[in-house]
Amino acid sequence: MKNHLIENKKDTINNILSMVKLASLLFSGIAIFSSSFENIHATILTYNMYSSFIVLFSLTLIYALWSFSTIPKFEGRVLKLIILGENLSFSLVFTLVIVFSGAHESNYKLLFLLIIITSTIQSGMRSGLITATISSTIVLIIDLIYGTSSPVNIYFENDLLIAGVFILTAWPLGYYVESERRYIKKLEDMVNLDGLTELYNHRYFYDSLTYIIDYHKKENKPVSMAFIDIDYFKHYNDLYGHQQGDLVLKEVANILREAVRPSDIVARYGGEEFSIIFPNTNENDAVLLAEEIRRRIEEYYFFGEENQPNGTLTISLGISSFPSKAKDDIDLIKSADDALYRAKFFNKNQVMTYTSVLDELKKDIEENEIDLVTSIKTLISVINAKDKYTYGHVERVVMYSRLIADKLNLSEEDKKALIYSAYMHDIGKINISSDILNKKMPLTKDEWEILKQHPAEGVNIIKEVASLNYVSPLILHHHERYDGKGYPYGLKGEDIPFLSRVLTVIDSFDAMTSNRPYNKRKSFKEGIEELKSNSGTQFDPDIAMEFIDIIKDHDDAFSSLI
Ligand code: GH3
Ligand code: MG
Ligand code: MG
Repeated sequence: MKNHLIENKKDTINNILSMVKLASLLFSGIAIFSSSFENIHATILTYNMYSSFIVLFSLTLIYALWSFSTIPKFEGRVLKLIILGENLSFSLVFTLVIVFSGAHESNYKLLFLLIIITSTIQSGMRSGLITATISSTIVLIIDLIYGTSSPVNIYFENDLLIAGVFILTAWPLGYYVESERRYIKKLEDMVNLDGLTELYNHRYFYDSLTYIIDYHKKENKPVSMAFIDIDYFKHYNDLYGHQQGDLVLKEVANILREAVRPSDIVARYGGEEFSIIFPNTNENDAVLLAEEIRRRIEEYYFFGEENQPNGTLTISLGISSFPSKAKDDIDLIKSADDALYRAKFFNKNQVMTYTSVLDELKKDIEENEIDLVTSIKTLISVINAKDKYTYGHVERVVMYSRLIADKLNLSEEDKKALIYSAYMHDIGKINISSDILNKKMPLTKDEWEILKQHPAEGVNIIKEVASLNYVSPLILHHHERYDGKGYPYGLKGEDIPFLSRVLTVIDSFDAMTSNRPYNKRKSFKEGIEELKSNSGTQFDPDIAMEFIDIIKDHDDAFSSLI
């Protein structure tokens, strides 16, 4: 994951360092050029001077072009090797410059300082000290080779001082660079990690998800995600207190960290919810990993877990995958969350994958209508975004539809009709403003009139899709009441299509038991009571009874919600 601030800073520093290196090459050129006129060293021909000058000048140009265009593209090991190669080349050039410009008498020994400073800033203290040592050695060896004519090698003695300066530059500068790096790392950790579990936090999770999805999209590779929630954790907290609960969160975090691969990103998504990004992993492999995590948690002994409803502390996991199940990062989160909800619903302590109604739908409709259905899906996500209280509502209503279709032994065709209408029942809300959809006060008469048009509006939208025509009546009548006081037509009893009456029960139940703008969420128990007391008036009594049975059958899964 890249942090833009830090990347920008790195780029700026690299540009400055490249300029320093460029300047040092230019100095070298000047050194050779001027010494070719002075002809200090008798053994070196002027011709050689010119050619070396030309070589140096070309080197400078090549380096300028190369460093500004390529360095930012390299990372990690490759970058280190490049910097090493660069430093070696520079040392070689400087050595030649010193030899050409008077060897032991040269005034250009300090050129090495530039490469010592740049390499320390770029690669830290160790590399700075190595460069300083090599530079000092070169300078002193030149003195030993060329300066032996005088009995006491005065140059050698003087250059010991230069060697000292080299080392004393690299050491504190390197120390400074490294302590700054450590400090930045610490700050980054504080920003990116969750204080309690030391897993990545919610913010980092989102940032890296966007980045990972973008990258894998380009590379045409899959990304999977797991949403994890501890089962009956409220119960655990109630028994042992929040502090003990926090300890369990830490232990779960450690198990997750150990169970995943180094490239996976484990985050604490919220209170007792975790999420994992599995880069370059398809759904099947993600399920295997998730199953392994589930098993490890189940087998681990958590303090006092014997008093949990199942005698052991467990987690539920929802999995989804990009691009097979979700088209982007938001979709991936939403679908994994949906899968988690189903894992909870079907008795917890299990891994569930996301199943898309749209994919099922695609099998049943004509080839030429697929685009239309895809736009219906877009409309549904727009509504979900506008109407924040219905988040997950469509998915839950679809889930209930599947359950009740099995309970009522519906034909395959009716089951499909029910599921599809559950999926699309609110599509007519697309043109209703979010102000009305999210209004906390009771609606005014005019606003009610607008809201009441959504069944007919929905039918209007899907009428383009011929293969969905049989779903239209179900959508049109899903707000009729059994006693005839509903809308839009005030149909009564058996005049309302049977599947519409089913849809009314499950839609209303989910509306009651999830947060709505106009009233507080009811518990499942209260929801059941509400269904009972409105049986025969709002709801078809037989259907309401069947549905209540389903909810009671899944009582265990709901006990925390009741
Ligand atoms: P379910 O099996 O349906 O997940 O039941 P649950 O009781 O776990 O319900 P839910 O997922 O809604 O759990 C939320 C509970 O998690 C509420 C609170 O007691 C607990 N919780 C959330 N955040 C923290 C936290 O930071 N520390 C502790 N100790 N408990 C937390
Ligand atoms: Mg939770
Ligand atoms: Mg929970």
